[in-house]
Amino acid sequence: TIAYLNGEYLPLEDARISPLDRGFLYGDGIYEVIPTYNGRFVGFNAHMARMRAGLDALQIRDGLTADVWKTILDRLISENKQQMPDANIGLYLHVSRGADIRRHHAFPEGIPPTVFAYAFPFPAPQPETRAEAVGLQVDLAEDLRWQRCNIKSTSLLGNIMHYQQGHQRGLQETLLYNRDGEITEASSSNVFVVKNKQIMTPPLDHQLLSGITRMLLIESLASQGVEVLQQPISREALLAADEVWLTSSSKEVAPVTEVGGKTIGKGDVGACWQMAIQAYHTNKFIL
Ligand code: PMP
Repeated sequence: TIAYLNGEYLPLEDARISPLDRGFLYGDGIYEVIPTYNGRFVGFNAHMARMRAGLDALQIRDGLTADVWKTILDRLISENKQQMPDANIGLYLHVSRGADIRRHHAFPEGIPPTVFAYAFPFPAPQPETRAEAVGLQVDLAEDLRWQRCNIKSTSLLGNIMHYQQGHQRGLQETLLYNRDGEITEASSSNVFVVKNKQIMTPPLDHQLLSGITRMLLIESLASQGVEVLQQPISREALLAADEVWLTSSSKEVAPVTEVGGKTIGKGDVGACWQMAIQAYHTNKFIL
């Protein structure tokens, strides 16, 4: 199979991308699969438009027009059709942000995107699997995609887009709430709230990552006889809190003084935080 990678046509097995590619590290990229039958494309313009919209949303500038893509894809078909006699060829297109040595959620500037495409046999649906012949048996589930935040997935696109939103306003994190207006976590941190000396944090479920620092802080405080309530926290309660903290391996326990332009408490780091960070440093190796 001859593939396309960053301007070159080469055997698929010789195609190499950097492990620092953000498509690999963050799922920071866009793809399309375009079916072709005897060299004819299905929905070519619609595929191009959808890919363009996705790349624009991610601020990835690949510089490839639909005409250039057509030339690339036509060549992939002609290079590969000998090995794919069944006349139906699928085309996979993938543009990721590219490789960057800096470990940072913000979109890096000035790195060339990784552009990859290859052709693969694309069998037409068999009669016995066609819906009008037999019918498919399917499952039914609540849609939890993009909400399975308890999994520490490399597909961080949702996280980095939230982070980027705050970053572009000069802020250091983005706190998140669910459809019920309850705080879940931040783009790469867990959250704690203090009101009238009571410390609270959202309970663990699919909506947030079970942070190691979160757990260590709860244990550290418990060993000092300080209880943390794990309960839902509304957006209103967050904004009315005396203190807000973020926890993560890199931040440890970080006090927050402003959320969405609203000052938290007196706008300085609170007394409870002083106590908590001490408890954390005394106990952080407990587990
Ligand atoms: N939530 C999210 C979404 C994160 O990416 C992170 C950092 N891995 C955290 C919370 C904090 O987790 P930890 O304390 O294990 O670093």
